Amino acid sequence: MPRPPKRRTVDSLPRHDYFKPPGVPLTELEELRLSVDELEAIRLKDREGFNHETCAERMQVSRPTFHRVLASAHRKVAEALTEGKAIRIEGGRFRLRGGYLCRRCGQMVRENGSSGLICPKCGSEDMVQPASRRRRRRRRRGDSGGRG
Ligand SMILES: [Zn+2]
Repeated sequence: MPRPPKRRTVDSLPRHDYFKPPGVPLTELEELRLSVDELEAIRLKDREGFNHETCAERMQVSRPTFHRVLASAHRKVAEALTEGKAIRIEGGRFRLRGGYLCRRCGQMVRENGSSGLICPKCGSEDMVQPASRRRRRRRRRGDSGGRG
């Protein structure tokens, strides 16, 4: 029996999840899907500059697995850049360090489901990282009660 795929740990969700070359009509645009764990591999290795061992540790995978994820990510990014394809970042087998918070019902979720980031309690896709809440320290909207 094949083992269930192990989830890769990522530190954060992508801030932007879609990149496209400007001026190309959607009908002519080819789209590649980069998974969140693939983006994390690029971030750790190419952006943060960690070595493979550290990257693998951070994502809680073996080094060969990390190597494979990174190679796949590189291939896709190279293809998009050289052939003018769009990149959609979504899905993948990952869990977020610290989990997710549903902004609609407040449910905490540990991992993304097979269909992506959807709250198992209320079905909302408005999931955020709890840490990003702290930054939102600024004045809250609707202090005065507001309308409706
Ligand atoms: Zn919810």
